Amino acid sequence: MDRSLYVEFARRSLGGEELDGASCQRILSDASLDILSLLDAAYEVRKTYFGQEVRVHILNNAQNGHCQEDCHYCAQAKSSKADIEEYGIKSDEEMLQEGRQAYAKGASCYCMVFAGRGASQSRIERLKRVLSAIKTEFPDKEICVSTGFVSNEGAVELKKAGLDRLNHNLNTSEAHYPNICTTHTFADRLNTLLAAKAAGLRVCSGMIVGMGENHADIIDVARRLRALKAESIPVNLLVPIEGNALSPQESGLTPDFILRVLCLFRFLNPSSEIRVAAGREMHLRSMEVMALYPANSLFLQGYLNAKGVSNTRTLQMIKDAGFSIKSEVDLDELLGRQESQQDAITNGSKALLKTIKELRPSIQ
Ligand code: SF4
Repeated sequence: MDRSLYVEFARRSLGGEELDGASCQRILSDASLDILSLLDAAYEVRKTYFGQEVRVHILNNAQNGHCQEDCHYCAQAKSSKADIEEYGIKSDEEMLQEGRQAYAKGASCYCMVFAGRGASQSRIERLKRVLSAIKTEFPDKEICVSTGFVSNEGAVELKKAGLDRLNHNLNTSEAHYPNICTTHTFADRLNTLLAAKAAGLRVCSGMIVGMGENHADIIDVARRLRALKAESIPVNLLVPIEGNALSPQESGLTPDFILRVLCLFRFLNPSSEIRVAAGREMHLRSMEVMALYPANSLFLQGYLNAKGVSNTRTLQMIKDAGFSIKSEVDLDELLGRQESQQDAITNGSKALLKTIKELRPSIQ
C-alpha cells in the first residue's frame, strides 16, 4: 500500500472532514492497511493537538455496588455475581483526600465514580459540597464525576459547584444497546450528555469495545461522539470479570484490532482527548505503548473493580517512549516518588515478616 492513503486519512481528519463509512471500515478491517503506517498517520493528528503530552487520569469509586441497573459488563450490576467489595458513599473528607492523592500522583483529572441509575437531589447536594472543597484547594485541576443520569437542572447545579467534566459513556451503538443492558436505553444516555453540554460542562463519553458489537457499531459510536463534540473519549476494552453477564470468553480482541479502533477514533475526533482506558494492559500486551500514538491519555492505578499495573510501570512506559505528562510535577520526580513509596512498602513488609518470624520461629 503506498503512503498516500494514510497521508490522506490524516489530511482529511486535520481538515475537519468526517471520514466516509468505507474508509472507516477499511481502517478497522483491511489487512492490507499496515498498522504502523496507520499509527503514524493517527500520530500526525494527535501531535497537532497534543504534541508529546499524555494526560493521566485517576478513577476512584466513591461508592461501590448495590446498583439496580443490569449493564452486562459491570460487576456492580444487579445481574452480576462478581465477588466485589460493596460499600456506601464515602465521607466528604475521604473523597477530598483521594483527590489530593490523585493530583499528587500526577493526575491532571480526578474522576469520582458513583454506582446507580442516576443522581438523586441528595447526591447532587453532597457532590456540590465535595466539588467546591476540591476546587477551593485545586482551582487549576480538573474534576470529573460519573454519577449515572443527570437532569438539566442537576447538570447546571454541578457546573456551578465547580465540576469541569461529566462522564457518561455511550458504551456501544444504539442498535447494539439492548444486547448489553435492559434497564435503560441508549437514548437515556444521550439525554444526560445533552444536559451536560447545555449546562456548559465538558463531556467525557466513550465506549467499551469487545462486547459482541460489529464494526458498524464501533464506527457509529465514534461518529456520535464527533457529532456531540465530546471533549474526552475513553476507549475501554472489555475486562472480563467472573460472575458478570458478559462471559469472560466473549471479547475476542487482538492488539492489532484495538490499535485500529484507536486510530479510527483519532481520525474521527481529531481534537478530542482520546483515552486508552480500561483493559489496555490485558488486551494490548506487548503492544501497549503503541496506543499512545493515536491516544493521548490513560488511566493510572486501575479501573474501579479491575486492577491495572503499577503506577511506576505506567509512568516508566510513558517516559521510555519519549512522551511527557500534563502535570506541574516532573515525570522523573513522580517516578522517584513512586519508587520511594514502593521501597517503604517493601521495607514495611520485610519488617513485619521479621517480627512474625521472631514471634513464630517455625515460619520460614
Ligand atoms: S455501569 Fe453504572 S448503572 Fe450500569 S450497572 Fe454499573 S454502576 Fe449500575
